[in-house]
Amino acid sequence: MKKIVLATANTHKVIEFQRILNELLPDLELVAASQFPGVPEVEETGSSFAENALIKARAINQFTNLPALADDSGLVVEALNGAPGIFSARYAGIEADDKANVVKLLNEIKDIDQSLLGAKFECSIALVDKSQELELVVDGQMPGQVIKEVRGENGFGYDPIFVPQGLTKTSSELSDAEKDKISHRGIALRKMSMILKQLPG
Ligand code: IMP
Repeated sequence: MKKIVLATANTHKVIEFQRILNELLPDLELVAASQFPGVPEVEETGSSFAENALIKARAINQFTNLPALADDSGLVVEALNGAPGIFSARYAGIEADDKANVVKLLNEIKDIDQSLLGAKFECSIALVDKSQELELVVDGQMPGQVIKEVRGENGFGYDPIFVPQGLTKTSSELSDAEKDKISHRGIALRKMSMILKQLPG
């Protein structure tokens, strides 16, 4: 069985990764980096989702000597010049939780016409395995729009105020399977699963 470390502390993301990858690659053992005592907290100092994903995957691969997967993702709102973007997790401050970030975003968009609220979720997933001289990044996007009210109970982050293109429900009103089919993370993970299939071991 292939063992891969997942370089994220976000429990929601670990759950989504396991849910999607378990189905595609039942032989893969996905271990959260937090299971390794003394694992470093990696600062996201990059200027893009891809750079941040690579920074995290490199650090965790170096620490664990296991192939490492890292995801960096966020919400890009056109009318806000791409904000919150790579700062999605800390939009309302370094200690901010999902609710505070959503409240801040609702406040930023309150005077913008709904027709101008086009947005997308983006996700970059990096795989680093120094022993194989391997470093690569795959991407996924979910286009849609942000809305001015909170709807739904599922998912996390900005899901309650994001309506995927072609739908009327928010991502929080979708089932897990419905979200995985169209989500930025689902798309990127399906690309990554093709690569992981070919890893030795
Ligand atoms: P990261 O952990 O630095 O990649 O931060 C990602 C942040 O982007 C999360 O904390 C959420 O606020 C937001 N985000 C990423 N993916 C999703 C999603 O699938 N639904 C809702 N919010 C998301």
